[in-house]
Amino acid sequence: MLQMNSNVSHGGGFVNSFEAGLWKNSSPRSVLACVILCLVTAGGEPNAVAQATIPVSTQHSGRVAHPSNAQIADPTLEARVNRLLRQMTLEEKIGQLVQYNDTGEASPAPPDKVGQGALAAVNPETANHVNAMRLAETGRLGSMLNTIGAERTSTYQHLAVDKSRLHIPLLFGADVIHGFRTIYPVPLGLAASFDPELVVELSRMAAEEATTAGVRWFYSPMVDISRDPRWGRTAEGAGEDAYLGAAMARAYIRGYQGDSLSKPGSVAASVKHFAAYGAAEAGREYNTTDMSEIRLRQDYLPPYQAAVEAGAATIMSAFNSLNGVPASANPFLLTKVLRGEWGFNGFVVSDYTAVMELMNHGIALDAAAATRKAITAGVDVDMMSHFYDTQLPGLIRSGQVPMAVVDEAVRRVLRVKFATGLFERPYAEGVEVKAAVAEHRPLVRKAAEKSFVLLQNDKLADGAPLLPLSPARKRVALIGPLADDKGDMVGAWAGAANDRDIIALKQALAERAQQSGGTLLYSSGTAIDDTSQAGFPEAIDAARAADVVILALGESGAMSGEAGSRAHLDLPGNQQQLLEAVVAVGKPVVLLIFSGRPLVLDWAAKHVPAIMEVWFPGTEAGNAIANVLYGDVSPSGKLPMSFPRALGQEPLYYNQLPTGRPPTGIDLSKPSGDGTRFFSRYIDVPNSALFPFGYGLSYSSFSYKDINVSKSSIPLAQPLANRTTPLLEATAILTNTGSRMATEVVQCYLRNLGASVEQPVRSLKGFLRVTLAPGESKKISFRLGFNELSFFNLEGKPTIEPTHYTVWIGGSSLAAEKATFEVISPTRTTDSH
Ligand code: BGC
Repeated sequence: MLQMNSNVSHGGGFVNSFEAGLWKNSSPRSVLACVILCLVTAGGEPNAVAQATIPVSTQHSGRVAHPSNAQIADPTLEARVNRLLRQMTLEEKIGQLVQYNDTGEASPAPPDKVGQGALAAVNPETANHVNAMRLAETGRLGSMLNTIGAERTSTYQHLAVDKSRLHIPLLFGADVIHGFRTIYPVPLGLAASFDPELVVELSRMAAEEATTAGVRWFYSPMVDISRDPRWGRTAEGAGEDAYLGAAMARAYIRGYQGDSLSKPGSVAASVKHFAAYGAAEAGREYNTTDMSEIRLRQDYLPPYQAAVEAGAATIMSAFNSLNGVPASANPFLLTKVLRGEWGFNGFVVSDYTAVMELMNHGIALDAAAATRKAITAGVDVDMMSHFYDTQLPGLIRSGQVPMAVVDEAVRRVLRVKFATGLFERPYAEGVEVKAAVAEHRPLVRKAAEKSFVLLQNDKLADGAPLLPLSPARKRVALIGPLADDKGDMVGAWAGAANDRDIIALKQALAERAQQSGGTLLYSSGTAIDDTSQAGFPEAIDAARAADVVILALGESGAMSGEAGSRAHLDLPGNQQQLLEAVVAVGKPVVLLIFSGRPLVLDWAAKHVPAIMEVWFPGTEAGNAIANVLYGDVSPSGKLPMSFPRALGQEPLYYNQLPTGRPPTGIDLSKPSGDGTRFFSRYIDVPNSALFPFGYGLSYSSFSYKDINVSKSSIPLAQPLANRTTPLLEATAILTNTGSRMATEVVQCYLRNLGASVEQPVRSLKGFLRVTLAPGESKKISFRLGFNELSFFNLEGKPTIEPTHYTVWIGGSSLAAEKATFEVISPTRTTDSH
């Protein structure tokens, strides 16, 4: 049996943990998305236009599809659903709405022996009353979570398919977040690639691996926008920006579900956690979220909507409350927006015991009330609360929950089961993948290389930047607790990764050293979260003996992910002291930061010449880092989240709203004084990020010039009449001014001035990865339409008003090259520029 999740109760909440090192959870817009067409002009010649359309995964249809997934809406499928529904007893119907994990029994025990399995006792508040096998056999279980492996899933599936009265197959869901056996970077790292097509490939790969183990449903993608790195689940999403988040969300869905849910290798996606979980106050896990509807719609909902529009088959309701109503009993979110506005036709599963937790939220006095509130708000499936199965019969008898509500929830589940081909192919398929797949290693290595963000690369005394490493630096000291670490390389939620498949940094650098006749000196120096300095002397000796020092510092995988909130964003334990001691030796230092979130790197930025954020890179961690350090590949990642100078700046994000007292023209690095105090600022730290959103260096360099817009004014009637036709193009000439072939992530930002509601100081509205040879130039063009120019008004509707726009094109959210245009009211006919 491969391993499954077990659940550990602690203080009214639950986290998941996975056993045996096989299955790990290490703690446990688009109405407004961009339609951009990229016109790339070779050699900077505006007339010689080579046209390239930006990949579909970053495009938005410009319309809301009703229903969201045509496959689920197929009339033949609906007839099958209704035929089956007519045969079902109430108990069987409710069974389809119930989800448990593997309770560990060897067989379906008689009713008086249920709940005695090896794993049942670990979640005493819920699953100890059930024997999942018995439920499967009697048609009282619809789906299972984190039960993986061909053998175990088949055992359960045979009970459901062969023995239950109506032979309805189980749907096996699992937290496959960034790979199943072959692991790629944590989603935050992957977002740094700004490469949705890569995400499509990787997620398809993961789906193909996992279906061999019986898994047909992924609790992924996590598309929660996070502007506060204290929140550990920041690692699981695409960071702080709705546009990037939406592009990534679409890509995951395309990969998981393919062009057909029923194709072998496809899995149903579960988009989570709906909604706004990432805005948990103070970054504290499971905490309250409270925000205006404008903020919700503009900054938090776009990635969920993008995923729904891409056809996501299921959604997971979140743990948090939103504006006073828990997300798992929130009719505004689950019915009005999700089904009403977005036409979602899949099913909604609660998060783990989220229905039960409605009682802790204080909106339900008992299990019955929690059940009634959840199902009537729109939660179709109860994950692990043991409430729907115990409470729904009584609620239906008493008329508190209409039968029609249950029937519709069951239909939603059955539609997905039919659409995924589960009735025809219920079992694990193909040769079971039990280890990282050799043929998948190049792809996950490439993904890791693309995820790294070079934060700093100063020139040394010889005039050359420290990276890429010169082969002349023969004696390399590799120091730090993450240098010879396999388990942490894969970060949180590492699927069914196994340490023996993972390439540690030390191993990869030792091979390099051997090939080039160099020497690798190694010292861990300290542990990840320790106070002992016993290892410092050895580390300092290694640094003294070396030509260059590579420091591998940062967090453990378990420090981010679920229940991984941190109140400090520094290097954990005594790693800062180790860093300072090693830097004091005086050798050139390359600092590698492993983390599932932005950390405070202020000291390092002042004292260390080269810093690279490598997140948690996955199975090929060591090889990917070595390839980038030695310059086989130039770094091309850009930050999906702002890195603060100080913890107190959080939540820090680039697309903030303006204030009435911006500190324009004031040197914020100096303490406030006469004439510089009464501004929106800190008296002790600049407002800006240390490393801002969209920022990242390359081994080459790029310049931007000739930023232009194709029109200086657009009559308002145009976008209001047609929301899908592009309104104008914004263009720039990008030149590789360095000496090597390299890739730049070109970013397009907009600001809108004069609208009825405040608009962000700038917002990402397009991006593109462009690879150029040294000296080569290209004309880059972003097509902007209703989706990019619109904003949400006080009625919660996307709109465009006669306002002024600024557009920037550049290599980060600090891009300085700009152009302007305006949308003019019907009463004005001439340009005002
Ligand atoms: C997490 C979800 C996860 C679920 C099932 C919950 O604790 O919040 O992200 O999908 O467990 O493991």
